[in-house]
Amino acid sequence: MEEIFPFIGYRGRRLFVEDVDVQAVAKKIGTPAYVYSKAAFSYWFNEFDSAFGDVGHLTAFAVKSCSNIAILKLLAEMGAGADTVSAGEIFRAVNAGIPSEKIVFAGVGKRRDEMEYALSCGILMFNVESRQELETLNRVAEKIGKKAKIAVRVNPDVDPKTHPYISTGLRTSKFGIDYDEAFDVYMKAKEMRWIEPVGIHFHIGSQILDVSPFKEASSKVADLVKALRDKGLDIEYFDAGGGLGINYHPEEKPPAASSLAEMIVPFVKELDCKLILEPGRRISGNSGLLLTEILYVKRKEGKTFYIVDAAMNDCMRPSLYDAYHHIVPVEKKETVEIVDVVGPVCETGDIFAKDRRVGRCEQGDILAILSAGAYGFSMASNYNSRVRPPEVLVSNRDFKVIRERETFGSLIEGEKILWL
Ligand SMILES: *Cc1c(COP(=O)(O)O)cnc(C)c1O
Repeated sequence: MEEIFPFIGYRGRRLFVEDVDVQAVAKKIGTPAYVYSKAAFSYWFNEFDSAFGDVGHLTAFAVKSCSNIAILKLLAEMGAGADTVSAGEIFRAVNAGIPSEKIVFAGVGKRRDEMEYALSCGILMFNVESRQELETLNRVAEKIGKKAKIAVRVNPDVDPKTHPYISTGLRTSKFGIDYDEAFDVYMKAKEMRWIEPVGIHFHIGSQILDVSPFKEASSKVADLVKALRDKGLDIEYFDAGGGLGINYHPEEKPPAASSLAEMIVPFVKELDCKLILEPGRRISGNSGLLLTEILYVKRKEGKTFYIVDAAMNDCMRPSLYDAYHHIVPVEKKETVEIVDVVGPVCETGDIFAKDRRVGRCEQGDILAILSAGAYGFSMASNYNSRVRPPEVLVSNRDFKVIRERETFGSLIEGEKILWL
């Protein structure tokens, strides 16, 4: 295989995911459709997990990046835990067989019912993001008679040098508790009867390609752990969050997971903490793609549009973050042309690529939008009353639908006509 990304590439003129010709998937399942590779998931999980091999750790997959329970099940079998940001995600993780003692729960706005649910599941810990949340959690834990194990999400105020929308560790961010305040919050937590501080947490951003900010953050947070231990707090878990980036351009190389490990592990070893990591995109991003058919080709003076049947509701990243996704035809073309690849939704922002060199295609050809495994389906919506696409999992020569294409019925489920 002439690989574009691991397990995804051309064999002769045809695009394959593992041993499956993706044109066959498009024929059988229709388009648009998400296609994931089991081997790629394993590859990326192992690349990440093994980089931290010489220290006791838990790789808690960020469920929000790719939430299908079949995928979570695969990862559970590889030993993954789950990083969750809602009760719904905890429900998914538990249903997929991820042991509750491997589930962590973050998020700036946890509801009381979500706290109750998480406590009743017996998750590993809550990553608490404000003083008020801590007080609320203490009350909820008392109500159901179960102590809540927590880490404070500390905002180490380092610049992850990524897109502002996915930068989460600066002082100006809504996430976490300021570094200078965190000590005090721990002292409060220590006094609370139903709260048990067991860890410390930070998550500085997403799609991080320069790993040095992780060192700065780890160093600051490690100092805080020492100060807390001096006060008698037993901080056992050091949760360094997620955020390691991937290459969206096939010709580029992402930082190795081992380079991330070099930034964090020395601090964790010195503290003798258990390490928790929360990678999302790094594991799922290049494990999936989105297949879409070219409905129409519009060629006019100096401009060509490929109007495809996937849209911003199916894959939001290009519209939301102006993100680059590499796009290739599933059947290699002789020549290239410069095109805009656009969706059918009634928004000018419904665009997958602008002035992009793509193999010269015709109506009916299928394109693969690559690196769509993370924040692809999980961010999909029904905008324009479009049914969400199916998800397909490839393993060797087989492929199976792991989520059916939605129907018109699913579009109006729960709606009621009351006044007629
Ligand atoms: C989103 C998120 C992650 C995962 O981020 P990636 O960039 O996909 O690795 C991890 N932890 C928390 C708390 C998050 O919000």
